[in-house]
Amino acid sequence: MQVTNASNSREVDPASGRIQRSTSLVEDVYEAIFAQLMALKIAPGARITVDSLVKELDVSHTPIREALGRLEGEGLVLKTHLIGYRAAPQITRRRFDELYELRLLLEPHAAAKAAALMDETKLAVLEESAGGMARREGKDERLRYSNFARQDAIFHDRIMEFANNGLVRETLAFQHTHFHIFRLMFHSRVTEEALDEHQAILAAFAASDPAAAEQAMRRHIEHSRDRLLPAFD
Ligand SMILES: [Zn+2]
Repeated sequence: MQVTNASNSREVDPASGRIQRSTSLVEDVYEAIFAQLMALKIAPGARITVDSLVKELDVSHTPIREALGRLEGEGLVLKTHLIGYRAAPQITRRRFDELYELRLLLEPHAAAKAAALMDETKLAVLEESAGGMARREGKDERLRYSNFARQDAIFHDRIMEFANNGLVRETLAFQHTHFHIFRLMFHSRVTEEALDEHQAILAAFAASDPAAAEQAMRRHIEHSRDRLLPAFD
């Protein structure tokens, strides 16, 4: 699963959207386009022209093509022969239901296992990950939102890691769930409420309480589903 540290996104100037420094250029370009996809500035299904990104981000074609290739690997961008790139379409209602059914089958159980195997080191990793989501630094709402999506993906992936079943972890990572669900709507409510639910999961981990962890994870996923359902109205 390709997840990277969200701190890179700070290198994008929120005012102009331009890249501010050249180190790890592909990474910066990737973060800039990722933020536009997450916050629906590039709408699902919309064409993505390399030339317009060259102008907008003030970089050459090469890093943009590389970044788009990486986003293609994550299922966020599609490339069609002779036509070019476009943003992946919005997931369908059916796919959404399937995704949440899958999550509810796997994640609460995995959270219970992770709680049973919890120790100080793992707890610190999870608290750090959850803390990254709570920080409200930076003025740009779009970047904050895309950072949250990535940190949420990392948080849930870490829990799957600590649940110690590689196949369950891979199965969920392969769906790139968080990248798709966060594109359903761009709204602060999606992030604010999730923070409290994450705290409940962390509290169960801190208490090494498998039953509470299972319940807290189930509640979080059910609430997440209910928050996003209006996107299909
Ligand atoms: Zn979450």
